[in-house]
Amino acid sequence: MNGSGSNFDQAELAKFSSLAEHWWDPESEFRPLHEINPLRLAWIDGLVGLSGKTVLDVGCGGGILSEAMALKGASVTGIDLAEKPLMVAALHAQKSEVSVHYEQISAEELTDREANRFDVVTCMEMLEHVPQPKLVVQACAKLVVPGGLVVFSTINRNLLSWLVAIVGAEYVLQLLPKGTHKLRGFIRPRELLEWSNEVGLELRDQKGLGYNPITKNFRLHKFLGVGYLLAMQRQP
Ligand code: SAH
Repeated sequence: MNGSGSNFDQAELAKFSSLAEHWWDPESEFRPLHEINPLRLAWIDGLVGLSGKTVLDVGCGGGILSEAMALKGASVTGIDLAEKPLMVAALHAQKSEVSVHYEQISAEELTDREANRFDVVTCMEMLEHVPQPKLVVQACAKLVVPGGLVVFSTINRNLLSWLVAIVGAEYVLQLLPKGTHKLRGFIRPRELLEWSNEVGLELRDQKGLGYNPITKNFRLHKFLGVGYLLAMQRQP
């Protein structure tokens, strides 16, 4: 929590803002997001059929997933609290002639205006940067329509995830800038499931995110020990 009682960490937002101009460079710090994007997009599309759906992308950053979902025919709103990534997102969408609505607002605040409105809510690689992720999970559950899908992705908290996602990714392979992630922000699948279940979200599907440092390929697999994605369905 910051001083005003809002659920964000100013230093985290500043970090993403300072890198924002690289967001769409597939060789930059954002390369992992570019590489995992087709995998997560295909998984989500396979679960819900994005075409014609109304989608909210929470913590959308520069809009890598938001735009891809819009290209699949979804009507997408992307929200984030960092100003620069949103500007980059809006500019990129304009250049690419893709229609996405971007707004600087938190998921919690948006519930006042847009409860029960979205067929799909995605919240990817964001919860681990937020002081009280449980509040974001609660907001996502309010924003999605009954029967709709909420998709989370984050990083598990254990010795292996520290070794792979921090030591390996930031220090050894230098896939991500040092300091991108803190172990204390990581979330166990059991915790995320519990917070979700408490607000009426039930597990529909789950995937682990694997990286092969030799082939430099990401893939979705069964093991949830490091990065993982949960698809939660709101009770109808
Ligand atoms: N979801 C995008 C970007 C992930 S990077 C993707 O997967 O491609 C994490 C994003 O979360 C950054 O853009 C950062 O600004 C945003 N973020 C961090 N804390 C936030 C908060 N409390 N509310 C909204 N966005 C937040």
